[in-house]
Amino acid sequence: MTPTEQSPLAPTVRGPVADEAIAQLASLTAQRDRELLDVSLAQGVLELLSAPRVGVYRLIGQTEDVLHWVCCGLAQRGQLTVSDPPWVDLSSLPLKEECPLRASVLELHQAEQTELVQAPDDARFVTVLPLMAELGLPGVLEIHTTTQLALPALRPIQTLLKVFANFQNLLESSQRDALTTLLNRQTFDATFSKASVPEAADASALPPGERRSGEVTGYWLGMADIDHFKQVNDGFGHLIGDEVLVLVARIMRQSFRHYDRLYRFGGEEFVILLRGGTEAEAHRAFERFRLNVENYPFPQVKRVTVSVGFTQVHHSDTPHVSFSRADQGVYCAKHQGRNQVLCFERLVREGVLVDSKADPVGRVEMF
Ligand code: GH3
Ligand code: MG
Ligand code: MG
Repeated sequence: MTPTEQSPLAPTVRGPVADEAIAQLASLTAQRDRELLDVSLAQGVLELLSAPRVGVYRLIGQTEDVLHWVCCGLAQRGQLTVSDPPWVDLSSLPLKEECPLRASVLELHQAEQTELVQAPDDARFVTVLPLMAELGLPGVLEIHTTTQLALPALRPIQTLLKVFANFQNLLESSQRDALTTLLNRQTFDATFSKASVPEAADASALPPGERRSGEVTGYWLGMADIDHFKQVNDGFGHLIGDEVLVLVARIMRQSFRHYDRLYRFGGEEFVILLRGGTEAEAHRAFERFRLNVENYPFPQVKRVTVSVGFTQVHHSDTPHVSFSRADQGVYCAKHQGRNQVLCFERLVREGVLVDSKADPVGRVEMF
């Protein structure tokens, strides 16, 4: 048989669209950064369909009742693919109800009904498909075309979205703590390297409204430890203990901004990577969380409190170095009676702690 002849069992050659779809899958699943995954999806679909514009939009909100559409990837022909910055002001984003096509696609998907909606929009057609992952933020893919998309053209996209959903589920479950769904300790190092970029470069990335001359605009790292948690387990059992952990995680989400990074570091220890602001502003944010926990009526246990230590993240820090400064803050808070927020730098200024970096002996002294 010559190379051009095919036996009846030989696989059929699928053509450039299938080749392109498989190539897009390969590049999508090489991505480990969740924030860049949606950007890659928008870019991949744009190339696959030669569409003029493709966007990935997800629903975010500080509370579950008021949700906004954030653009996680917008690819336009001849332009760089962009997305809203993670620290985008929620009030500047459209509300869920303001984009009825996207909202209805998600609702249809959740009701397990038809999941594709096409609508003419001026001279263009808009096709909206749901992103199907169970983990992560709910979202849609929005494709703008000059003619209505035929179903065969959409089939590779639907397959791509199925693989994308499976991959997103895997990525989310590998990066999140199973009990609280907060980010897990393993993802901390990767995020931390982004947070500890040189301050000048970091400040220039901030939107003008957030930039205030003479003020610190970097990151703050906080560590929160539940007080006397062993007594909760001993007195009420592990199941109630687990429920307390889940509720504290929920209070964390409600206490911090949507772009602050929240981690469960294991056991009853939580870590917060707070973006921007002065020491006083960071203190207020951690204090708000502490107070929200103290005032929450926990079932059975009734009252739970947390001790928090926090520190400024320096660009020369390794995760371990800034983590240990925040940990010293927690240690002091425990010794000073628990249920309080203490800043490492302030403890150094007050002479309670010695900064090992500033100390030529390289020792941390306490009390
Ligand atoms: P302190 O105020 O000094 O922090 O006291 P503590 O009792 O909170 O601290 P300690 O380190 O003595 O106890 C932590 C407890 O957390 C012990 C362990 O049984 C419990 N714990 C760790 N992980 C989990 C978990 O996943 N679920 C539950 N229910 N308990 C856990
Ligand atoms: Mg602890
Ligand atoms: Mg504890």
